[in-house]
Amino acid sequence: MTMSLSTEVRMIKGVGPQRAELLAQRGIYTLEDLFGYLPFRYEDRIRFSKVKEIQPNGTYTIRARVMSGQAVRTMRGRDAIYHLLVQDDTGQLPCKFFHGGYLEGRLKPGQDLVLHGKVEVDRLRPARLEMINPQIETLSGEEIDSTEVGRIVPIYEAIGTFGSRAIRRAMYAAVQQVDLNMPDVLPEALRARLGFPSRGEAIIHTHFPTPEESLDALNTFRSPAQQRLIFEEFYLYQLSLALDRRAARKQNAITFRVREDAVREALKRILPFKPTMAQKRVLGEIVADLEKPLPMNRLLQGDVGSGKTIIALQGAVIAIENGTQAALMAPTEILAVQHFLSARRILSRAGYRVELLISGLKGSEKAAALERIRSGEAQLVIGTHALIEDNVEFARLGFVAIDEQHRFGVLQRKRLMDKAASHGHAPHVLVLTATPIPRTLSLTLYGDLDVSVLDELPPGRTPIVTRITSEPHLSGVWEFLRREAVAGYQGYIVYPVIEESKLELKAAMEEYERLSRDVYPKLKLGLLHGRLSSEEKDDVMQRFRSNEVQILVATTVVEVGVDVPNATVMVIEHAERFGLAQLHQLRGRIGRGARKSHCILVAPSRMTDEARARLETMVRTSNGFEIAETDLQLRGPGEFFGTRQAGNLGFHIANPLRDRELLELARREAFALVDDSAQRQALEDTLRALPGQWQQRYHLARVG
Ligand code: ADP
Ligand code: MG
Repeated sequence: MTMSLSTEVRMIKGVGPQRAELLAQRGIYTLEDLFGYLPFRYEDRIRFSKVKEIQPNGTYTIRARVMSGQAVRTMRGRDAIYHLLVQDDTGQLPCKFFHGGYLEGRLKPGQDLVLHGKVEVDRLRPARLEMINPQIETLSGEEIDSTEVGRIVPIYEAIGTFGSRAIRRAMYAAVQQVDLNMPDVLPEALRARLGFPSRGEAIIHTHFPTPEESLDALNTFRSPAQQRLIFEEFYLYQLSLALDRRAARKQNAITFRVREDAVREALKRILPFKPTMAQKRVLGEIVADLEKPLPMNRLLQGDVGSGKTIIALQGAVIAIENGTQAALMAPTEILAVQHFLSARRILSRAGYRVELLISGLKGSEKAAALERIRSGEAQLVIGTHALIEDNVEFARLGFVAIDEQHRFGVLQRKRLMDKAASHGHAPHVLVLTATPIPRTLSLTLYGDLDVSVLDELPPGRTPIVTRITSEPHLSGVWEFLRREAVAGYQGYIVYPVIEESKLELKAAMEEYERLSRDVYPKLKLGLLHGRLSSEEKDDVMQRFRSNEVQILVATTVVEVGVDVPNATVMVIEHAERFGLAQLHQLRGRIGRGARKSHCILVAPSRMTDEARARLETMVRTSNGFEIAETDLQLRGPGEFFGTRQAGNLGFHIANPLRDRELLELARREAFALVDDSAQRQALEDTLRALPGQWQQRYHLARVG
C-alpha cells in the first residue's frame, strides 16, 4: 500500500495503538509529523570497532556479547553503579553505568549488544580500559537486518517506552511506503541555486543516509539533506516575519499617552520601592516607544534579580490607563502564579483588575476568566502558555510582556502578538530575559528588536557566598541549613531531574523522605516537582512563601524567576550535571534580601575538567554576562543554547546558533521574496504549497 504524508502513524507496521498514543503525546499524528522527528546522532555500523583497537579517550561503537552484569550500591546507598562485561572476537571490555540500577536483571549473558560510548582508563587499575555510560541497544537474531547494521544508523531519542531501535524500524517502514515525490515548499529554481536536494530526498537521507555520507557531517548537522531541512525551517519562519513586517507597515500600534498627570501619578502610586537608576532609564526608553504610533518591539535584558518584573507591570499600567488590556506570559505555572500574586498585591490597591490564566484552572473558573478577558473586564492577564490557546480572545490587547523569553519558542511569542493583531492593531511587545544573546542573532530571530539593559542591582543586596563541596561533607551542609532555618530563614535543596519521569523523580522523593525523617525531624519540608498538579504546586509554594515550610526540596522547576527573599541557602546536588546558565539561574533564587546568602554546590571530588571549570566559574563570579561568556568558551557556540533551549525555540532541527549562516541566508532569501513585487507569483505558489498544519505552525495562512 502506498501512503501519503497525511496517513496516520498507526497505519505503519510496528506502530500499534499504544505507540500511536505515545507519539500523539508528542504531537506526532501523521507520517509528515513522524518524518519531522529527526535522529540526534548517527553511528557507523558499516564496520564496528573491535575491542582490541580501542584507545583511551576515544568514542567507539562496538558490537559485543554480554558476559556478566551486576549493580553495586555506592557507599551512601543512594545510587547504584552497574558493571557490565562484554566481549567480541578480539577481547573483553568492562563498561560502567553510573546511576545504572535500572539495568539490574535487564541484560542477560549471551545477549548481543551494540554499545556506543567513550572509553577511559580505569582510575583504580590504570592498565585497564572501560567504557563509561555507553548507550546500548540489544540485538536479537532475526532483528539484525539492514536497519540495524551494515549502514550508518540513525539514533533517535526514545519517546517513553518507544525506544530508538523501534522508532528506527517504524521510520524505515514509513519511508519505504510513502511516495516521497511530494510537493516542495522550496521552488526548484531556489533549490538549484543553493544546491539543496528535494524535500523527499532530504527526508530519506536524513533518516537513512547512504554509506558514502560523511559520518562527521551528519553528526554536526552538515550533510546536504540536513542543511536543506534546517534552511527550510528558517526560511518559513523568516517568511512569516517578512509578511508581518509588510503588514505592520500598514497597521499602526495604538499610541499611548504617558505624559498626562493621571498616568504619571498611576506609575508612581504602584511602585512598592524606590526604583534604581537603571530601572528609571529603561522605563524612559519604553515610554518613548509607547508614545510612537509604531509597535514597540523591545528586549529587556537584565541579570537575575535586577528587577525586571516591575518594569513589565509599569508597562501594563500605561496600557491600562490608555484603555487597553495588557498580558504577561511566563514559562511556568509557578512563575505565573507568583507574578499574579505580586501584581494583585501591587495593582489591586490602585483599582486595577488582574486575571490569572493557567491550564490548571477548573472548567467553570476558566470559562469565567475567559469571559472577563473577552469582555475587557480583566485589565492585566497573567498566565502561561494557556494564554496563547485558540479559545483566548482579548477585547483590546495593547501591551504584551513575555518573561524569561528564552523559555518560549519564537513561534509561541508570535501567537500572543497575533491575539492583538486580530483586532486591527499590532501590540507593543516587551520581552524580558536574563540570558544575553548576540545582537545579530536576536535580529534574525526577533526581527527589528531594540534592546534595553538593566545593569544595576537593587540596593541592599549582600553578595552570595558560593562554595563547592562533596558528598562526604553533606552532614555539615545539612547542619548549616538547619541553623539558618532555626534563625528564621529558608533554603532550597535542588536535584537534577531532566525528564521528570517517575523513575527519575524517585531519587528526589526518597531524599525528601529521608531528610524529613532523619535529618530535619523538627523542621517542615516541602517537595516540589514538575509532576505535581497545579494545586499541589501552588500549595507548596504558598507554604514556602509564608515560611510555614522552611526547606524546599525541588527539581529545576524552581529554576526561573521564583522570588522568595527570605530564602538564604541554595544547595544544589550533583551540581556537575547542570549547565552554567542553569546554575546561575538557580543561584539567583537566593541573595534577594539583606541577609548574607550561601550557595553550596555538591559534586563528586572526581569530575571532568569541563564540569570543574563550570563550578569554579560559579565560585569566581556572580555576573550573568561573564558567566554566559565563559559558557560560550567552555562549550562552543553550538552548545550555547543547549539542545533543550534550541528545542524550545520551536524548531525541529534548526539551531540558530549552530546554524547561524543558514539562518542569515534564509532571512535574505525570504525577505527578498516578500519585498520584491516581481516575485509575487512565486510567493503565492510557495504559500499554496504549504501543508495546512505548516500554515498554522508558521502563521503563514495569509496568502498574498
Ligand atoms: P528579575 O529581574 O530576576 O525578574 P525581580 O523582578 O524578580 O528580578 O526582582 C527581584 C527582587 O528585587 C524582587 O523581590 C523585587 O521586589 C525586588 N526589587 C526590584 N526592584 C527593586 C528596587 N528598586 N528596590 C528594592 N527592591 C527591588
Ligand atoms: Mg524574573
